[in-house]
Amino acid sequence: SAKSAGKRQWCHYQPSLQAGLVARHELNENLDTAIAESAFRLYYQPIVDLATGALVAFEALVRWPHDRRGMVLPDEFIALAEESGQIVPLGAWVLERAAQETAAWHAAGSAARAAVGLPPLRVNVNVSARQFRDPGFVDVVRGAIRSSGIPPQSLVLELTESVLMRRDDRVHTDMRTLGDLGVGIAIDDFGTGYSSLSYLREFPISILKIDKSFIDGLGHSQQQYALVEGITRIADTLGVQVIAEGIEHPDQRDLLAAMGCPLGQGYLFARPLTPEQARTFIEEHTLPVAPLNEPAGPGGHGG
Ligand code: C2E
Ligand code: MG
Ligand code: MG
Ligand code: MG
Repeated sequence: SAKSAGKRQWCHYQPSLQAGLVARHELNENLDTAIAESAFRLYYQPIVDLATGALVAFEALVRWPHDRRGMVLPDEFIALAEESGQIVPLGAWVLERAAQETAAWHAAGSAARAAVGLPPLRVNVNVSARQFRDPGFVDVVRGAIRSSGIPPQSLVLELTESVLMRRDDRVHTDMRTLGDLGVGIAIDDFGTGYSSLSYLREFPISILKIDKSFIDGLGHSQQQYALVEGITRIADTLGVQVIAEGIEHPDQRDLLAAMGCPLGQGYLFARPLTPEQARTFIEEHTLPVAPLNEPAGPGGHGG
């Protein structure tokens, strides 16, 4: 395996590799302390309705404020935490915290949203494969819902294909349990790796997030455009909601809206926000939306 190959290399003297391992070791110990002290922060990136601009959800994104390294981004520690198993307590903290914050948004703003025809805000939480495989995972999800009091429908778990690739009984059972709870399940980074449309009929998937790499090429690649349009259409037929990730330019948003992609996320709308900034964003985006009462004529989106 790659791991044992790495160990074998380590026996030979390699200065750069050694430096890397020292940093890893240090990061690992720091992670332990950070987990014990809940030293992480959640940022929240808006997910919006592309047709109306209405705020639909926030994706919770973890960051690690570190005294010497500054604000450490997840790409620098999530993989490490997965390898060591530290992702299990870290992921549980993320779920608890995101659910609590969502409960506070609901308490402060659900009435205002309802008044303009918007359902309660949802929160999307990233879940890594190692975390999903932990036998306690479903109970952690139940616990986060119970202690925060949010409706299960307000929580969406973002899984990557690395979870779904292992089609064992446990994965199927847990997915069904979560689906029955009412929790939403999203496939993250769809289109990268080994993602396959067959996941959509095999698992209770409610949302598909099309990876940024497809959105990047929308304006100048006919092929990318056709691919995104096709995925959106198939998902719509199956009752699966699509979120386009990494929208940075207005023309990308316009192309996506025109092809009927319902939701989007990206720097065009907002970067990941602190909880305080998220509150301001909520206040500024609780605006009336056009009523969804067009007659479903032939060829219309009938569901
Ligand atoms: P992801 O779940 O695909 O999250 C989207 C990433 O793209 C985020 O990076 C976000 O800041 C970034 N992004 C959003 N819009 C744009 C855009 O328009 N342009 C560009 N260039 N980037 C954009 P971030 O926060 O650094 O997170 C990276 C990855 O780390 C996430 O990818 C996710 O896989 C993982 N991650 C983040 N938080 C958690 C967590 O709490 N638990 C787990 N297991 N993984 C997490
Ligand atoms: Mg995600
Ligand atoms: Mg993603
Ligand atoms: Mg990603």
